Amino acid sequence: MDWARQVNIKNPAEIAIMREAGRINATVLTSVRELLKPGVSTADLDAAAEEVLKKHGAVSPFKGYGYPPFPNSITVSINEELVHGIPTSSRKLKEGDLVSIDCGTFFEGFVADSAISAGVGEISSKAAKLLEVTEQALYVGIAKMRSGNRTGDISEAIQKYVESHGFHVTREYTGHGVGRQMHEGPQVPNYGVAGTGILLRPGMVIALEPMVLVGTHKTKVSKDKWTVVSADGSLTAHYEHSVAVTEGDPLILTVL
Ligand code: MG
Ligand code: MG
Repeated sequence: MDWARQVNIKNPAEIAIMREAGRINATVLTSVRELLKPGVSTADLDAAAEEVLKKHGAVSPFKGYGYPPFPNSITVSINEELVHGIPTSSRKLKEGDLVSIDCGTFFEGFVADSAISAGVGEISSKAAKLLEVTEQALYVGIAKMRSGNRTGDISEAIQKYVESHGFHVTREYTGHGVGRQMHEGPQVPNYGVAGTGILLRPGMVIALEPMVLVGTHKTKVSKDKWTVVSADGSLTAHYEHSVAVTEGDPLILTVL
């Protein structure tokens, strides 16, 4: 991928703007999460997200992205849908659904990118375990985001953690640098080998995003050309934070 070659180091002023973008992004996700109830349509979630973005003078970098241009401000992916689900007024949430919301914020020239997964009402114990492992995998990856480590250290840690719980990591979709563009280098897969890949340096900002599947690692793209589903129809989950490498501890930008 061409975007994966360009690694842009951010200065402290740029990181500060990205932190603001990240705060807005977290506000959006918090608002959307509160709406996750049976009967709510995925278009309702998108409308709520757009309203919060607008209130903060921000827009979504998702809208119009790619080809065919993505039509909405967030992606909503339910159950076997792993990522990139298109919100519609006809798709209503049901009790027991596992919903993944991915949101981007474009603010003052920079992008923040973050995703959460959550259940609607009561969910199965398998779904609850999947949520827990996927979210924890994100933090296992973030812990490796230290200056002097390599991207492969992150990738291996995420893969090992997820597979040790009997789940699978996607191969086709990856974490990525983020900054003025939604996708910059380095590319950070959720699988890999420690000690390989790009050297991490202070000022690098990476959107880490474990995408986890219950059945196998295989995915396919739906007829709408966006929604990615597990090939076997099994449950999936997705968590993401945009995180800066610093001289010390990793700095999570996409929190309140
Ligand atoms: Mg995202
Ligand atoms: Mg991303």
